[in-house]
Parts: sequence; structure tokens; C-alpha cells
Amino acid sequence: MAMVVKLLKSSIEAQAVLEGRGCEVRSLEFAFGSFLVVLGQDNPPDDVIEAMDGIVWARLAGATPILAAREQNHQGTLVPLGDMNVGGKDLSLVAGPCSVEDREQIFTTARFVAALGATALRGGAYKPRTSPYAFQGLGQPGLELLREAARASNLPVVTEIMDPGMVESMAPFVDCFQIGARNMSNTPLLKAVGRAGKSVLLKRGSSATLKDFVLAAEYILLEGNAKVILCERGIRTFETSTRNTLDLSAIPVLKSMTHLPVIVDPSHGTGRRDAVIPMARAAVAAGADGIMVEVHPYPSRAKSDGDQSLHFFEFRQLVEDLKPVAEAVGRRLEVGFCHWKGTDANP
Ligand code: PEP
Ligand code: MN
Repeated sequence: MAMVVKLLKSSIEAQAVLEGRGCEVRSLEFAFGSFLVVLGQDNPPDDVIEAMDGIVWARLAGATPILAAREQNHQGTLVPLGDMNVGGKDLSLVAGPCSVEDREQIFTTARFVAALGATALRGGAYKPRTSPYAFQGLGQPGLELLREAARASNLPVVTEIMDPGMVESMAPFVDCFQIGARNMSNTPLLKAVGRAGKSVLLKRGSSATLKDFVLAAEYILLEGNAKVILCERGIRTFETSTRNTLDLSAIPVLKSMTHLPVIVDPSHGTGRRDAVIPMARAAVAAGADGIMVEVHPYPSRAKSDGDQSLHFFEFRQLVEDLKPVAEAVGRRLEVGFCHWKGTDANP
């Protein structure tokens, strides 16, 4: 059984002694504490652990999260996203198209959402589509366009990674790696983004319990990376009038389970444009640290997820609607101003 030891400060000696006894040891340093994790041992050497200096506690680790558990950081962890943090007083607003489609589409969207106060630009270059016949994303050219558009609007980039082998090649274009719902339990991918050290937006698998979800985040923390944003994006239920059932009770429950920030994606959570703004308001009221939404200049022409993508004028409405809700629950949202109303009402 594995063991997690919390220390007053990191100890190279303790690690060396444990390694000398044949243990695989990780020494992890977070803003909220120093830990030694002893992995892959039937019986961690208690005598060595007991003799170590500066132990706060030592625990056998089984099927429950330890590093991601709320008790490690009651204040809550702040995760950097560009110049902002997710999890602080400011509400985060990640917006952009489902997929990067062309230069014009991503540049106009970036400019519009940035002007209105978005805090990050999203957009998929590598898309995990349900059907192999559907648009799979532009790949590398899409990633380059996304980076350029984000830079022009001074926004950080959030984009999905599907292959652990692509961390290195994607990293220069990405501020925050998104792990999609379909990959939430892809452990090689979780480890690879954990090692990359960048912020990670981890989406809940559509059939994952909240405990499964936090354990997936634990994989990333175990690589020494606590910059993990959890994203509720709906789960599969018997209901068919929405694409998924957005589980807003996940917000307070995750907050009690973990110190990681929690954002909500009402676009995938409902699959319906008309439900996105109401559910975003509800999510902020329930304590979400941010919202991720899909926005497209011409949703009816979108190559993916057009039905759930907001028109520009609706994104403006969303931001205006969220501001008073955010303030009512002690959060802040800076609403920008953009003269351009977009041209998308009747494309
Ligand atoms: C997405 O954000 O475009 C996406 C594919 O989401 P999910 O992984 O939640 O389905
Ligand atoms: Mn999508």
C-alpha cells in the first residue's frame, strides 16, 4: 500500500533513506505543504518513516484522494490562468468556439470575448468527436491560429490535449491543457500533463462520480502539479431533452471534497443555447469559480457544437447577467464594453 507523509519541510535525506530501502518515493512541494509519497510498497518501512524528522502525519493511501483533499488547503488553491487566478474573488470566464475553424472565426471571437471581459480563450484544435466521420479539428494549424488570436487579444489559451505524446509539441502554444470528459480517466494523459507543470482544466467524465473525478485530479497532483481546475460539464442520465444533465450540486460537494477551483461548462452541460445563460447564472450563484462557454460568430455554420454555441449578442447578455449574480455571492466580474454587436442574428 502507498503512504503519504506530510512534512514540515522537504527532506532529501528522508527520501534517500527510503529509496535505499527499495521504495519508489516522490518528494512533492506545494504552496500548501511538503509531502513524501511512498509508492508501490506492500509494506512501507514504518521504522524509517517513524524515525524521520519533521513529520506532521503519515497516512496509508488507498482509494480516497489525499493531496487534492480539502483538508490540505482550507483556503482553496489558486490556479494561474494568464495574469489571473482561477479560484480567487474574480470570476473566471473561459470563452471561445468549440473548434478552431479558420483565421477569421478565431480572431473575431477572441477580440469580441476579450473586449467583454473573458479571462481566457478556448478552442479545440484536436477534437475528441463521438463520430469518426465528424470534423476532427484543424490540428497543428488550428493550434497556431489559436495562439496568434489569443496573443492579439491578450488572452491565455485553453485547449484540449488527447495524446500524452503531444505534451511537448503543444506546450509552447498552450497556457492551460484541457483534458476532456472522454479522457478524464486516461491515466497516462493525466500523468503527462501533470509532469508538464502547466495549468490543467480537467473535465468530469460523463459517467464519473465526484470521487472518481477528484481521484483523476489526484493523479496530476501526484506529479507535483496542483494547478488543476475542475470542470463540471454534465453527466449522462435518462433525460434526452438536454445533451447531458448539468450537475450543479457538484459545485458545493466538490468544494467540500477538494481545495481545487471548480468551474462549470453549461454549453456541453445542456447542449442547448437557450439553457446556457440560465445555467451559467445558477452555477455562479451556487459558488462556481468560473464559467466556460462556447461562442461562435455564426453558430448555425459551426463545424462542431453549433446548437450550444452562443451568438455574440448572447455572450454579451451572459456577461451582463453574470455580473450582479457574481456580486451577490461575493465575487467580482469586470464587464468590458464592445460597440460591435456582431452580425450573427440572421447569418
Ligand atoms: C469541449 O470542451 O469542446 C469538449 C469536447 O468538451 P467535453 O470533453 O466536456 O465533451
Ligand atoms: Mn464542444
